[in-house]
Amino acid sequence: MPIDATLPYDDSNIFARILRGEIPAKRVYEDDYALAFHDIAPQAPTHVLVIPKGAYVSWDDFSARAPDAEIAGFVRAVGHVAREHGLVAPGYRLLANVGGHGGQEVPHLHVHLFGGQPLGPMLA
Ligand code: AMP
Repeated sequence: MPIDATLPYDDSNIFARILRGEIPAKRVYEDDYALAFHDIAPQAPTHVLVIPKGAYVSWDDFSARAPDAEIAGFVRAVGHVAREHGLVAPGYRLLANVGGHGGQEVPHLHVHLFGGQPLGPMLA
């Protein structure tokens, strides 16, 4: 069920729980600003989610409220994860769903990183 991205942040969401270590995830990268882990239902050979450590509902919330250092740190982390997975030469896709029409289901900002095969014009 897609979320309403205008609602306040609710720290009971599943990615907040992963950040707190309350539930497991296949973690692939962590630094001061970001955590990356494998999507539980991968849609490509590589499907990693990168989330900021700060409490942001969506890309909209993050881009409006996050301090510049957190934005820079998060963007750099996404690029680092893509490079570490060898995705730059073959190419890859980044996707951030926002709210209802975007199909966002988890109310903590996450960027999907897809790769490992030709992805076509769009993922469903
Ligand atoms: P979105 O529709 O952009 O909100 O995407 C949410 C993504 O989170 C989906 O691709 C789910 O497969 C993924 N997901 C949900 N729960 C977990 C979990 N516990 N660990 C890893 N990925 C998850």
